[in-house]
Amino acid sequence: MEINVLEKTPLKLRLYIKDIPLHVLNSIRRVMIAEVPTMAIDSVVFTMNSSVFYDEYIAHRLGLVPLTSEKALEKYKLPEECREAADRGLFTEDCFVKLDLEGKGSEEGLVTLYSGDLKSSDPDVRPVYDKIPIVLLANNQEIRLEAYARLGRGKEHAKWSPVSVAAHKYVPLIHVREEICKGEECKKCIEVCPKDIFELKNGKLAIKQDKILDCSLCRICEEACPYNAIKINWKENEYVLTIESTGALPPKKILLEAIKILENKIDDFMESLKKEGVVK
Ligand code: SF4
Ligand code: SF4
Repeated sequence: MEINVLEKTPLKLRLYIKDIPLHVLNSIRRVMIAEVPTMAIDSVVFTMNSSVFYDEYIAHRLGLVPLTSEKALEKYKLPEECREAADRGLFTEDCFVKLDLEGKGSEEGLVTLYSGDLKSSDPDVRPVYDKIPIVLLANNQEIRLEAYARLGRGKEHAKWSPVSVAAHKYVPLIHVREEICKGEECKKCIEVCPKDIFELKNGKLAIKQDKILDCSLCRICEEACPYNAIKINWKENEYVLTIESTGALPPKKILLEAIKILENKIDDFMESLKKEGVVK
């Protein structure tokens, strides 16, 4: 197997992967979306809300605020271990983090409460972004609430999913028949390609090799070519995996956690097979 890092930023990881079976890559991708736990606000207790927004509306917004979750994975119990406490409305310290939000409107104008105004009981679990607007308060309006965050998984609600994007795509294979291509006389494919993959070099059509992975396999160039000189295809067993984090976890951590979860599932399956005597 061959892996190259194409892009690495605090929120994004893009990998070129060769010789990985598609079903394995797809399983990892799906586990990243649905099974890697993160922290998100799940219960909100309002002690005062004289704003124009309903409690439910504000609670829903709070649930969608990404919270830093890396250390929380070691400190707090997993969702399945907290479900009973959550169902009984018990906000136990091993499962929940409390975040307080308070604010009042002002005579001088509207006051906006932002995600950054949430005061967390655990500095390791706090809003990733400070400037997400939660609610606007006019004069004489007030909010006082306690929000409780817990670990959860994307399959339960998208607010717990650590990724905004987890996608793989094929590596493009673009073939231009030079003997047919009219190059400078035509230039149709250069004009239509949304990814700027083609250029003219010495009057001949050329593919920008540093951009080829951007090709979306849309085939617009194929359709636009009046001489049928382009063929778009893709390589077998070569993929580009893109992971974009919500900020709750670093992309690398999301990938490693997904692999760990998948390994545990296979181990569980093997154990069950042994227990049933299917394998020894
Ligand atoms: S398939 Fe689409 S993106 Fe790729 S080279 Fe053709 S037009 Fe450009
Ligand atoms: S559209 Fe076809 S003929 Fe025209 S430049 Fe592109 S490949 Fe060549």
